[in-house]
Amino acid sequence: MNIVFSHQADELAATARKIADEYVRPQAAKHDKAQEYNYEAAKAVADAGLFATFIPKRYGGSEAGILALARVTEELARADSGFGVAFAVNALGSFPIILGGTEEQKQEWLPKIACGEKFVAFCLSEKYAGSDAQGLAVTAVEDGDDYIINGEKKWTTNGGIADYYTVFCVTDANSKSRRISAIMVEKDTPGFSVKKIEDKMGIRCVPVVETHFDHVRVPKRNMIGGCPGMGFKHAMATLDHARPGVAAQAVGAAQGALDLALVYASRRKQFGAPISSHQMVQQMLADMATETEAARWLVYRAAAGLDDDPTDATNSKLAAMAKCYATDNAMKVATDAVQIFGGYGFMEDYPVAKYFRDAKILQIYEGTNQVQRMVIARHLTRTVKNLGHLDEFIPTETQLTYTEPGQAVVNQNT
Ligand SMILES: Cc1cc2nc3c(=O)[nH]c(=O)nc-3n(C[C@H](O)[C@H](O)[C@H](O)COP(=O)(O)OP(=O)(O)OC[C@H]3O[C@@H](n4cnc5c(N)ncnc54)[C@H](O)[C@@H]3O)c2cc1C
Repeated sequence: MNIVFSHQADELAATARKIADEYVRPQAAKHDKAQEYNYEAAKAVADAGLFATFIPKRYGGSEAGILALARVTEELARADSGFGVAFAVNALGSFPIILGGTEEQKQEWLPKIACGEKFVAFCLSEKYAGSDAQGLAVTAVEDGDDYIINGEKKWTTNGGIADYYTVFCVTDANSKSRRISAIMVEKDTPGFSVKKIEDKMGIRCVPVVETHFDHVRVPKRNMIGGCPGMGFKHAMATLDHARPGVAAQAVGAAQGALDLALVYASRRKQFGAPISSHQMVQQMLADMATETEAARWLVYRAAAGLDDDPTDATNSKLAAMAKCYATDNAMKVATDAVQIFGGYGFMEDYPVAKYFRDAKILQIYEGTNQVQRMVIARHLTRTVKNLGHLDEFIPTETQLTYTEPGQAVVNQNT
């Protein structure tokens, strides 16, 4: 498969870099400290048409694709990882509509998202249902032409500032496969409220909140896709499409920390020479750069696969690989960047400490990296049948399965 860098994507990435330099980086420390959203940068992003990147042309978007979305996110996150997610979460909240919405729903909601008039949030996680997204408790019960939603969602990124909330609710508690549905709730709907604004370790410029639903009445036409029971499918497809975005946020964050470490290492002198001339610092810098470049190309590959053929079953595996590898790398690079800064790296006076605090969440949200490894391993074991021609090279005794004590049969699964 070829990774195609379109002229359009190059231009969008260049625009994102310009906005990052002008509106994001200079304000990052201020917004982090005050835990304030950077509306000025968001306006610049909207004016430049970057919210349209992930939306089809038919609905006011530029349809630039997932690879372009990844590159835009990377540029914004390079300046401030928190602003990177503040941008990318709009794609996360929109994908259920793009991938599973009816024509009418797409026409109603997507154009306003594309022009930046409306922000979106994605409400899947709950207090008792994180990695196990099947275990949701928020309910939506039919009442005439409406659904009534009750319950609480945890950790809604963009909560409070978003206008649209894609809410995953239980609509059929007795069904195993069609238990959950995605329903769009608009901000001003009576009974909807933001109850707790989280005080976070990092990405402090973007609000993450608890969203509460107290007899929230929404019309049935807000059921995404029009038919109940499709929510889990929409959520999983959404995460496959959005994970390259988190992974791109991680590449940007790693690159941002590396840039700072490199400049610092060439300015700071110890033992009469810049620390960048000491071998052990060089080794850290070389590894940081190499692994960030490897992460970048894995992210681009995963994103390009989704653009090339969204139905390809390997997209999910590649998205998980990209998310896992790039976010583990961002944490490692941010840690080493602090190490290169020495004592100054530990101080909040300099942005490198913020890169370190911001990096941790990347390994947790949109599926923890343990969950990503589960997804990858599941794909691998599912495809092992394609490697049957290697059976003859596997010791026969390891292909025995004990069915009962003392009895063994040749394993038929290999
Ligand atoms: C800042 C922030 C922003 C977020 N934004 C959003 C958002 O916008 N929308 C949204 O819906 N959610 C959001 N989340 C929720 C996030 O996706 C969850 O925190 C994440 O999926 C993990 O769920 P959990 O925190 O309940 O951890 P748990 O699922 O309880 O996991 C705890 C630990 O156990 C491990 N674990 C769990 N199950 C297994 C298993 N089977 N095998 C191995 N290890 C396992 C996990 O990897 C983790 O290390 C956000 C969270 C944070 C902190």
